[in-house]
Amino acid sequence: MKAVYVTRTFDGASGTPGKVEVLEVAKPAVRDDDDVLVHIAYSALCGSDAHYIKDNLFPFEPPFAVGHEFSGVIEEAGAHAVARGFAPGDEVTGNFVLECGFCDMCRTEKRQFCEHATANGSAQAEYIVLKAAQLYHLPPGTSLLEGALIEPFTIACGVIDKARLRLGHSVLILGAGSIGQMLVQLARLNGASLVAASARTPSKRELALNLGANAVIDPLNEDIFARSHELAGPGFDVVLEASGSLECAQQALDLVAPGGTVILMSYYPPDQPIAIDLFKQVVVREITLSGLQLSQNNWPRALRMFSRVDVRPLISKVYPLQEAPQAYADLIAGRSLKLVLDCRDVS
Ligand SMILES: [Zn+2]
Ligand SMILES: [Zn+2]
Repeated sequence: MKAVYVTRTFDGASGTPGKVEVLEVAKPAVRDDDDVLVHIAYSALCGSDAHYIKDNLFPFEPPFAVGHEFSGVIEEAGAHAVARGFAPGDEVTGNFVLECGFCDMCRTEKRQFCEHATANGSAQAEYIVLKAAQLYHLPPGTSLLEGALIEPFTIACGVIDKARLRLGHSVLILGAGSIGQMLVQLARLNGASLVAASARTPSKRELALNLGANAVIDPLNEDIFARSHELAGPGFDVVLEASGSLECAQQALDLVAPGGTVILMSYYPPDQPIAIDLFKQVVVREITLSGLQLSQNNWPRALRMFSRVDVRPLISKVYPLQEAPQAYADLIAGRSLKLVLDCRDVS
């Protein structure tokens, strides 16, 4: 089968970017009663995937397979998987992390900190084998193409949980990429009185307005602090930093109102810590600062909410699997929303 591999990682000394290639590799097989072989339909590129190319955030040795946002159709399932309701022909998506289910973290709804977790991020391929415990059926009415965006949607849902959004809160979303656009919609659904989104790209600002933002900010041509003051007086109750820019992460702390909450969810460039005035921000202004990387605990709720948001306008382009290197080049160039590989298009 064909699969996307990172065959060279970023070389910090020379500045040579990493490289992805589509390789011919062995098709994975069902070996265990809990195994499920999924014929991948669509696999999306995540913002985090860009870090294989442009920096050394992930310390993996090439070559390694990539991809963790997918949808597909079950081709074969072991006996236990079938007993758990997963049968050939079922349309599924899944959580690429496999938690043990038994450690203290797993048993206290903190599966993201499982002490024995393993991950299978190799969904940018024709096939993947996962355990039944990692899989979820696509919700009714969800197409396979939309289904590839459920994993990032679980992150957006986790962000809203963490933000402790309450009726009437004002929300600022920094960065209007695919997760930012999901957050615009979820903030509205959660009763925010004001949802503002900041984005450099005009089409992203326009889409945010179409998806329910009350106001948008162009950070290149407007003073974001002046605009925020105009919109939300002393600051926003909740600021969600979804741009991945360290400058925005820093600004978030000054754009939030006293007593407000800042949530970070991006992969920032490694080894570039930012300075926080703890006395001013935490002691005097009582800001809550938190973040999240994974959000496995809320998959069932996220699946129930998925039909309440529109993810179709978030899909910028669908490429044949073979064109993954071009998709990665476009990901690095930025400005697009979700880039998706059609893993059944292997001609
Ligand atoms: Zn992702
Ligand atoms: Zn565990």
